Amino acid sequence: MLKIFNSFSKKIEEFAPIKDSKVGMYACGPTVYDYPHIGHGRKYVNDDVLKRVLEVVEGFKVKHIQNITDVGHLVSDADEGEDKLEKGAKKTGKTVWEVAQEFTDYFLKEMDSLNISRPDVECKATDHIPEQIELIKKIMENGYGYDTPEAVYFDVTKFADYGKLFGQSLEEKLVGGRDEVVTETSKKNPADFALWFKRVGKFADHVMHWESPWGDGFPGWHIECSAMSMKYLGEQFDIHTGGEDHLSIHHPNEIAQSEAATGKKPFVKYWFHSLFLAVDGKKMSKSLGNVYKVADIVERGFSPMALRYYYLSAHYRKQMNFSWEGMEGVSNSYKKLKKEFLALRVEGGQEKNIFGSKAEVELSGREAFFRDEFVNAVEDDLNMSAALAVARAVLKDEKLNSFEKRRLVENFDKVFGLKLSERDEVPADIPAEVMEMVNKREEMRKTKQWAESDALRKEIEKLGYKVSDFFDGVTVEKI
Ligand code: AMP
Ligand code: ZN
Repeated sequence: MLKIFNSFSKKIEEFAPIKDSKVGMYACGPTVYDYPHIGHGRKYVNDDVLKRVLEVVEGFKVKHIQNITDVGHLVSDADEGEDKLEKGAKKTGKTVWEVAQEFTDYFLKEMDSLNISRPDVECKATDHIPEQIELIKKIMENGYGYDTPEAVYFDVTKFADYGKLFGQSLEEKLVGGRDEVVTETSKKNPADFALWFKRVGKFADHVMHWESPWGDGFPGWHIECSAMSMKYLGEQFDIHTGGEDHLSIHHPNEIAQSEAATGKKPFVKYWFHSLFLAVDGKKMSKSLGNVYKVADIVERGFSPMALRYYYLSAHYRKQMNFSWEGMEGVSNSYKKLKKEFLALRVEGGQEKNIFGSKAEVELSGREAFFRDEFVNAVEDDLNMSAALAVARAVLKDEKLNSFEKRRLVENFDKVFGLKLSERDEVPADIPAEVMEMVNKREEMRKTKQWAESDALRKEIEKLGYKVSDFFDGVTVEKI
């Protein structure tokens, strides 16, 4: 049984879905006003690993919803500051809609490159304005909100325990918003948050705006997650994910407004938070020039799968430190794992499921031992570095045969998502012209032109690349 840390109770808990074997999982998506970075990659790979463990190892069916925050909104969780999308639009000379679409597309492309399985629903906040308005209406009807000339606010004093959600005091929550530019507001309490902003005062020219019972304006940013998660998963669901930054404001606000609207507790059964990724021990920031995209990693000659391996090596509840030396090291480990795996010669059938009640094959005693070691590691609050160690131990084991090794590791990779069996996943550090020569040589080998293919291998070696042949393909590496 999967044991997972629930950041709401602050305890490791046994995972059991609310209903049957179906799991509803909602992930806070990106704010699409800028390029995603490798910190986002970390968070979404962690979500992906959780989802794969639930599906592959535990045998559940996961319904995964992820939003795209494309409504122009503010610099931080608090209600003050500059609108991020409008800032991006000014900088690039594009419309806010174009900026949002462009960065949404870029985000999806980067996440695809990390082999993150796509959510079942990717929903945009701007496509769900009526749902957000409906939810605000319910909150108002239930007496938790109040209307002012500038905005509709949620009154946190009406929600018992608001100050205690996620074990944080109200004072701590206010510290979360301390850096903000404080302007005059008509809020009753400093921790009250906006459900709907009106197009008045500093927002008089806000570009994105819609009609509502409280006047022309736009939603506060917390309400979108409550509205969309409940639309697709129901009023109570299993898992909600996010980064550690959401523990102080965004997620307490989501709980308060959702439970205020429905009267049902708990809104979410398990909260799953990833800690941040830092670069060389420092927070990523434009001023330090250390904000990297997945594309930057690839440009330096690393495969996105090596970056995914890096993510898996760090536990999701610990801060991860990225460095180029670290990247080099994990890239070598990844290549070694893949090479050893691909060197196993098998005839097929190794992909059949070996997990739980859905297992399709009987394993030998030794195979079952390693399978259980792997399951124990992932079920232990997603200890993926231990799971990777099991895969390495399998490949080194002297008693398992090639077929058994391949069957085990191919099944493990359904959780790792490292594309270990894909030969055509061209390592990023092999130039296109070399790959062309490699492919040409493959054609020659198929037609048994041994002398020609040998000559071409030597030419490739002169360029600094080594080709190793296996019965069903080749691997290429830098010498
Ligand atoms: P944002 O686009 O800033 O709304 O972030 C989207 C998601 O990525 C949120 O769940 C954040 O908590 C998470 N996130 C942002 N920065 C990092 C980082 N440096 N490391 C890990 N996760 C992050
Ligand atoms: Zn959210």
